[in-house]
Amino acid sequence: MAFSKRCIVTGGAGFIGSALVRLLLKETGATVLVVDKLTYAGVPESLKEVGLDPATLASSNPRLKFLKADICDQAAMDRAFAEFRPDTIFHLAAESHVDRSIDGPGEFVRTNVVGTATLLQAALKYWRELPEDGEPRTTSHEPRTTKGTFRFQHISTDEVYGTLGETGFFTEKTPYSPHSPYSASKASSDHLVRAWHDTYGLPTLITNCSNNYGPYHFPEKLIPLVILNCLDGKPLPVYGKGANVRDWLFVDDHARALLLVNEKGVPGETYNVGGHNERTNLEVVKTVCSILDELRPRAAGKYEELITYVADRPGHDLRYAIDPAKLMDELGWRPRENFETGIRKTVEWYLANEWWWGPIRRGRYAGERLGVAAADNGG
Ligand code: NAD
Repeated sequence: MAFSKRCIVTGGAGFIGSALVRLLLKETGATVLVVDKLTYAGVPESLKEVGLDPATLASSNPRLKFLKADICDQAAMDRAFAEFRPDTIFHLAAESHVDRSIDGPGEFVRTNVVGTATLLQAALKYWRELPEDGEPRTTSHEPRTTKGTFRFQHISTDEVYGTLGETGFFTEKTPYSPHSPYSASKASSDHLVRAWHDTYGLPTLITNCSNNYGPYHFPEKLIPLVILNCLDGKPLPVYGKGANVRDWLFVDDHARALLLVNEKGVPGETYNVGGHNERTNLEVVKTVCSILDELRPRAAGKYEELITYVADRPGHDLRYAIDPAKLMDELGWRPRENFETGIRKTVEWYLANEWWWGPIRRGRYAGERLGVAAADNGG
């Protein structure tokens, strides 16, 4: 791919951010500065295969650098822009788990709202000093960003739209109606990004994506939690009757969509990302169980027998479903995986990569119930 931008990726040690960084380094000519605070959800091991030493955060890949920093730190963000001189920023750093937002909303407001505003200010300051389009070059550094080519890309969620009944889809025109502290903080950050475009002219892009799944997914989220609880013979907690519907997208398809929007999206616009893969939570859990019955049968019986129904999460949105027509028709995006192919790849990856999830399960997160509610996907 001809993509050779200098990219800041915030949250690049997280689930989706690391998928994007791996894509940028393996399949494009981009140079990447990861900016990540390494909260409980930041796993530098997810960047090992592209040259990061997780212990020292030094990189053997000349196209990858890692900056351990908080996006709320204005001075550090100003410095990152001034020194790295990006052509674009992909902003993914966030607190991302709904259940944790019910327990402790403060950190969600701080990182997702204040952190986004801090980055917008840093980007604006940098952008204002970029040359106008067509201005003669003063240095031979490649590539040279101009006010017209710079992009601030904000990665958000379909949860900002609230909940659907049994029919209908979220489009880019659906009014915002967030219900959890997580989705409200993401909605706030989306509004800030639009305001920086409309008020100051910063060339921004927003994507709102459905639930992601795939390799390197932190084990607190539904799909990896179910896989690992199965392997441990632990109960598989399902909210209520398991009837809540989510629209599932394989993480690498999301990363490719982000790249495409960065290259071809129109500044100021929003693009919804989703692959028409609606499944109830119960269907998701049963699919994982049946793949594991085939790949890693257990003597004690079928994995489905471990399903345990637990009290529903407060304010639990019934259904999310994305209409991705704009992204498909205007930019030509197509997902490569459907739910059946993606979920099989995911289960196979967890079976083959205990080196990655084993230390997390044994240390930071052992699969315990979080807050007043657990076992649903948080974003
Ligand atoms: P994640 O929780 O796996 O990763 C978040 C990353 O951000 C971590 O590496 C963490 O260390 C870092 N981070 C958190 N606070 C920070 C701070 N103050 N400063 C710097 N770094 C910080 O999240 P994810 O699932 O990869 O989601 C990434 C983005 O995509 C989020 O903005 C989320 O809202 C959005 N999103 C997620 C989904 C999904 O299904 N996971 C769907 C749509 C949109």
